[in-house]
Amino acid sequence: MVVIMKPGFTPEQLRDAIRTMEEGGVKVMVSKGTETTILGAEGNAAGINQEKLSLLPGVERVMRVTEPYKKANRKYHPDDTLVDLGSGAAVGGKRLAVIAGPCSVESEEQIVGVAQAVKTAGATALRGGAFKPRTSPYAFQGMGNDGIRLLQEARAVTGLPIVTEIMSTDNVEMFEMCVDVIQVGARNMQNFDLLKQLGRTTKPILLKRGLSSTIEEWLMSAEYIMAGGNEKVILCERGIRTFETFTRNTLDLSAVLAVKQLSHLPVVVDPSHACGKAWMVERMSMAALAAGADGLIIEVHNDPPHALCDGAQSITPEQFAALMGKLKELAPCVGREL
Ligand code: PEP
Ligand code: MN
Repeated sequence: MVVIMKPGFTPEQLRDAIRTMEEGGVKVMVSKGTETTILGAEGNAAGINQEKLSLLPGVERVMRVTEPYKKANRKYHPDDTLVDLGSGAAVGGKRLAVIAGPCSVESEEQIVGVAQAVKTAGATALRGGAFKPRTSPYAFQGMGNDGIRLLQEARAVTGLPIVTEIMSTDNVEMFEMCVDVIQVGARNMQNFDLLKQLGRTTKPILLKRGLSSTIEEWLMSAEYIMAGGNEKVILCERGIRTFETFTRNTLDLSAVLAVKQLSHLPVVVDPSHACGKAWMVERMSMAALAAGADGLIIEVHNDPPHALCDGAQSITPEQFAALMGKLKELAPCVGREL
C-alpha cells in the first residue's frame, strides 16, 4: 500500500497517518520528496483500515499495490492447486474434470439413471441440487434431505463423488458428513457467514461466481473460505449479468484466463447456467477448455422437456456422451487429458 500526503500536511497529520498504518500491522517507509511525501507499507497491508486512512486530514490518496487476497493469490503460491474430490477424482492438474448431472434431484430412478449414464460416458463427478435457490417461492425448491439421500445412493451405485449446493448455514454439518463437494451457488457467493463456516470444514468447496461479481470479489470470497483453514476451493465461472438477454447470462471466458493468472486455484466452467440453452453447451464447453479451464460442470437430464428445473439448458445423456467424445479429442490439443 502506498499513501500520498497532501501538500502542506502538518507533522501531526504525518504521525497520524503513520500510526494508522502501523496499527494495521505494517512497517512504514517515509519518502520525502521536494513536492510530495509518500508513505509505503512494508508487509501485509490487509489489516490496514483503508477507509479510515484515506479520511485523515493530511492524506491525499491511498493506493493498493498488491491484491487483498493472499491465500488465493498465485504470487505466494506459484504452483497450480489440485483439489482432491475423493474416490480417485480431482480438479486441477493435467486431467480435465467433468462434473455432470441434473439441475435437481427429482427421484431415485432419475438420479441413479443419470449417474450411471454420465459415469459410463466418463464423468468425474455427479452433480444434483437438493436445496434449490429458485427465483420464485412457488417454484420447485428441491427434495431437501431426501435429495441428499438419493445422491448418496447414486454414489453407492456408481462410485462417483457427489456435488451439491448448500443454501443454509444450518446444513453445514450435515453436508460435511454426507457429500463430497459442497457447492456455493452464485446467489450465495457473498454469504460471508456461510463462507466462514465452510472455511472450517474439510470438504472441497465449488465456489460459483456471483451474478454480478467482479473477479476480485470472487477471489475475496475464496479467501474467506481459505482464511478459515479450508484451502480446497474450486472456482466456477457460470456467466455474469450483462445487458444481453439472448442468453441467460454472458459466459465470461476471459475470467478463466484472468483467474488462472491471479490465482493457483482450479477453475471450472458451467456453460449450462451461463447460456441457458442446451444447444450452446457443446461449443461453449470446447471454448472453455481452449481458454484453459480445468474442467466443466454440465447439466444432464434424462427428459429435459419434463425437468422440474432448468430443462431448457439440460442436455440428454446421449448428447453428453457425444460431447465427451469431442472433449476427449480436444483435450490433447490444449495439453490436457480426459
Ligand atoms: C446450479 O448449479 O444448479 C445453480 C443454481 O447454479 P448458479 O448458482 O450458478 O445459478
Ligand atoms: Mn440449474
